[in-house]
Amino acid sequence: MIKNFSQRLAVWQKQYGRHELPWQRQGGYATWVSEIMLQQTQVQVVVPYFQKFIQEFPTISDLASASLDSVLAHWAGLGYYTRARNLHKAAKIIVSDHHCEIPKDLDLLVQLPGIGRSTAGAILSLGFGLRGVIQDGNVRRVFSRLFCIQGDLSKATAQKILWELADQLTPKSGPDACIHTQAMMDLGSIVCRRRKPTCQLCPFADDCQANQRGEVMLFPEPNRVKQRPDETWVVLQLENERNETLFLRRPPEGIWGGLYAPHIDSSLSKIGEQIKTVDVLEAEYQGELTHAFSHFKVHLEHYRLRVHSQDITEVGMWRSIDRLKKGVPGPINKLLNI
Ligand code: SF4
Repeated sequence: MIKNFSQRLAVWQKQYGRHELPWQRQGGYATWVSEIMLQQTQVQVVVPYFQKFIQEFPTISDLASASLDSVLAHWAGLGYYTRARNLHKAAKIIVSDHHCEIPKDLDLLVQLPGIGRSTAGAILSLGFGLRGVIQDGNVRRVFSRLFCIQGDLSKATAQKILWELADQLTPKSGPDACIHTQAMMDLGSIVCRRRKPTCQLCPFADDCQANQRGEVMLFPEPNRVKQRPDETWVVLQLENERNETLFLRRPPEGIWGGLYAPHIDSSLSKIGEQIKTVDVLEAEYQGELTHAFSHFKVHLEHYRLRVHSQDITEVGMWRSIDRLKKGVPGPINKLLNI
């Protein structure tokens, strides 16, 4: 084990860590919202979304009593909408079962939708100043390099080792545990970066096994996630006599679940099977863009068809594309405005 790890890390954090993030020292609710937003999303992207979200839903009761539409609208652009749906569900549970108070207990926290063990650890330590152990992507990467942990880090054997290390290295109590959590996150994102780590600035350069062996870039081993083949999606914008576009609510589960978008399918004829009242093959091509999801890319092709509202029987909202921005997936907004 590395000597005086948490003390040395705390000294480093004080001098070089991040101290001005808008969710820091703002309590459990702000920590929880930020932690959920930060899953799969970078800090600089999250900051403006976090600020607007907290302005709109300043308390747990505000979030719980808001409509899902409104929550999703404030999430639009951040992606991974299941996170927003879970946040909303969990807020309702906190209001109904926990008297509007986020539980300060690991076992109760992990029962809430969208909160895993690491997020719960972050809420406890960063939000409440209690002991909480985390193991996010940054921590995994730092540990895999410090201790040369091989193999797929998402597998049970590696997970066990990583959680044991995280537990052993986290101070046993109080405010030190809180600093430790922030410091681990900072070390991973400022110094021990995935690409181009700056080992010469690392407080553990002499302890780090991967650095000593000159094998830093071999850790962690890349995940062998199966890449889904790229797809083409046709987006058909039906536009009525008032220049309004028909937006349909997407099914709750799946990509862009619960958000509003024009018809989307793999081809115009597929969409035609759905809308039998007009000839979709007369639609005009408008342009395209490529959007990358985490494990596949989609080529979005945009077509527009002028119609009369009374010819369309499907239930949706006719809105001007300038007016309906919130609640529409970011790439669709971009595509419609090309
Ligand atoms: S020495 Fe380099 S690889 Fe090792 S923990 Fe520090 S930054 Fe990461």
